Order: sequence, then structure tokens, then C-alpha cells
Amino acid sequence: MSMFKEIPVEVGVIYEGERIRRKNMQVELGGPSIKEKFELAKVKPLNEIEDGKITIIGPDIKDMEEGKAYPLGILVEVAGSTLDQQLEGVIERRIHGYMNYIEGYSFQYIGKVLYKLFKSELNIIEKIQIAFITDPAKVKELHPKALQDYEARDARARGLKDEDVEEFYGCMLCQSFAPSHVCVISPQRYSNCGAISWFDGRASASIDPKGPVFAIKRGELINAEKGEYAGVNEVVKKKTLGDVDKVWLYTAFDYPHTSCGCFEAVAFYIPEVDGFGLVNRSFKGTTVNGLAFSTLADSTAGGRQVDGFHGLSIEYMRSTKFLDADGGWNRVVWLPKEVKERVKDFIPKEVIDKIATEEDAQDIDSLRVFLKEKNHPVVANWEKEATEEPKEAIIESPAEDFATPVVSASTLPITAGGFRIILKDAKIYANKVIIKTIKDEKTKK
Ligand code: SF4
Repeated sequence: MSMFKEIPVEVGVIYEGERIRRKNMQVELGGPSIKEKFELAKVKPLNEIEDGKITIIGPDIKDMEEGKAYPLGILVEVAGSTLDQQLEGVIERRIHGYMNYIEGYSFQYIGKVLYKLFKSELNIIEKIQIAFITDPAKVKELHPKALQDYEARDARARGLKDEDVEEFYGCMLCQSFAPSHVCVISPQRYSNCGAISWFDGRASASIDPKGPVFAIKRGELINAEKGEYAGVNEVVKKKTLGDVDKVWLYTAFDYPHTSCGCFEAVAFYIPEVDGFGLVNRSFKGTTVNGLAFSTLADSTAGGRQVDGFHGLSIEYMRSTKFLDADGGWNRVVWLPKEVKERVKDFIPKEVIDKIATEEDAQDIDSLRVFLKEKNHPVVANWEKEATEEPKEAIIESPAEDFATPVVSASTLPITAGGFRIILKDAKIYANKVIIKTIKDEKTKK
């Protein structure tokens, strides 16, 4: 039964984790093929808001052609005597959270549901008006304004350091999709979705302490290089019911921050060059290792800690702690041109021209040539490896112990005979595994 009697569509938390497959889709609103789309919350004076007003500018869902994608802007304007601008990010992040509660759509009803949920869950909102904009020209006109607001909000959190604060913030909004995921939001590690800064976390936890965003006493610093804090480990373990008991905030290896599913970008390790590629959600091509964002995202998502696959936000790329334990920007070898442009002011000058985009390298061989030509910092690692004696490690299993896999991995690529074979959720059983370092002639050219 619906949560609200007067609304003839189902509304409830049970619909929150529901996914609609492409073949069941009616229309796509602001999907990957649409450049301009936004959700924006603005705090306004009380006398500028007409409480409960819902406006639709452009075609409503019932007037859209089945199977097509449409631009969408959602503007939520709120007012309240104790509301301030710092809460805009918090309100904004709840828009699509609440929309996930709704089964069946029409903008009028979505508007009514948003109105009721915002007013019942955040009682500091006294008045609210909502606009859905699907008219392409209007979305295009308002989009730069939304980007400007996002940038101003992100910029506020820059400069503050993790060591300067006693509390970080956690967010569990994505647990409906990834039950073992908790975002840990520190001043220098922005949330994966790019929607919640440390300031937003603080504001959200203070107005709704029992809500999905909560304070984490960061506690003792266990490992400054990796970004490990006793308080973070303790809270993450509790909130994931023991699935994740250790998180290193500044690395993509060993105990990386988990990745839910709505990260803005993925960092993926490229073993052939010992560097990281980065790719954002709206990049439509295939990355330098031949995989598209969606495939890399599958290998990353689900609340797991996957070695070398790391969901992150664009704003985290602007942090001085960005993959710091792995070498930061000195370890990044490839990223889409659009992302490079967005974060260029935060990439060290010495390395910016040494990082390839899709225009410089389209596969691993051309990437290797590019990095070598530019003398990217990772090239020094290739040379170091070339002079090292091959190492060998042997893992032996007792012959009778075939209950325990010697290798297990969510994604295990194997290259053989000119083919790349990718094993998903692999478990390999063997009596003996011999791991040797090899001298890769191509790498050392
Ligand atoms: S990505 Fe993280 S911060 Fe963003 S909504 Fe999900 S859990 Fe919250």
C-alpha cells in the first residue's frame, strides 16, 4: 500500500533498491546520452516560495515517446526561518533518494511525494516549491548555473585538512544497492558520488542525526600514509555488520574505501604500465585497456574492496590526498580529456603533459610508447623492475585441502594466445601456485 492515501502510485522504502532494466524502461531521464541534466536545491526567503507549488516546464512523462532519453532539471526551492545555504547540498542529495521510493511516475505525483517527504523528514523546511524542467532549451539555460553552484560548494571544502578536524562523516544512503558500503567523508576525501562534502556531512548530521549521514569520531591515526584511522575502522565495521573492518582512505590497494555504485569515476590499475587510468561516468568510448566505464564500474561496485579498482568523485581528484599512498598524480597515466580539463589546475605542472588522454593513446601499446616518450614518472619504475632479480613465491596447499581456493577474485584477467580471458567471481584450486616476476620486454623498451 502506498505511504500516502491521496497519491495513486506506490511510495515506500521497499522500492528504494529497485532497478529497471533497459528492456523494461519507459523513458530515460537525463541518462548518459544527455549532456545537460541537473538536480539543484536552493534556499530562498520565505516570501519567495509558494508552498506546495509544482511546476512542469516541457513535456510530462506521459507525453514522452517510449524508449527515448530526455533532458531533466529538477529545481527544489525551500525556505525556513532556520534554514541556511549550507544545507542546500544536503537537501539536494535527498532528491533522488526520495525519488527511488516511488513506484510509477508522473511529475505531478513525484512533486507531491517530494513535497511530503521533505516536509516530514526535514521539519526545518517550512515552505517548498518544486520545478521539473524537460524543455531542452530551459535545461540548457539553467545547467551552467547549477554547475556554478556545485563548484562554489566544492571549493568551500578545499584547504581544510583531515588532521584539522576531529570528526569525519559517514553516509549509508547507498546501502540499499550495496549493503556493505559506507562512504567515509573527510575534508580531503569527498564522497564517491561527488554530492556530499565534509561540510555537507556536518550539516546533514546536525539537522538529522538519526538520518543516513552521521558523525564519525576519527580517533587515533594508525597510518598517516595510507589514511587509516581507528575510529573509521570501528564505525565501518559496525555499519557493515563486520563485512569491512579496515579502510585506508588514500589508496586503491589492500583496504581501499569501498565503492557503492553511484561513484562519479573509477580509478583502475593498469599492470602493464604500473599506473592508473581514470574514467568518468559520462565517458562514452572504451578506455585505454579496452573496457568501457560500465564494465569497469561492474568490477568496482557492490560495496567491495577490490584491489586496484576504486570508485571516486571528481572532487577527490582535486585533493592533495588523491591516491596519495599510491603516488597520486605521478601514478596516473590516462584519463578522458574532459576530466583532465576539469581538474587540470590540480594536477602538478611537472606531470600534466605526461598523462595521456583518449587523443594520445587508445590501447596499452600506444600508451606505453606515449609514457616512454614523455618520460612519465612510472617509466622509472619499469626501469627499476628491469634491473631487479626475478622474485619467486610458492604457495602450497595440502593435496587434500581442495576446500580452500588458492586464488579468488571478482575479476581475473588472463592473457593467452592473443586472447584476453576474463574470469568473473573466480575461485582457483591448485596443489601449488608459483608466482614469478617476469621481465616484460615491451615495458622495458
Ligand atoms: S555515494 Fe556515498 S555519500 Fe553519496 S549517497 Fe552514496 S553513500 Fe552517500
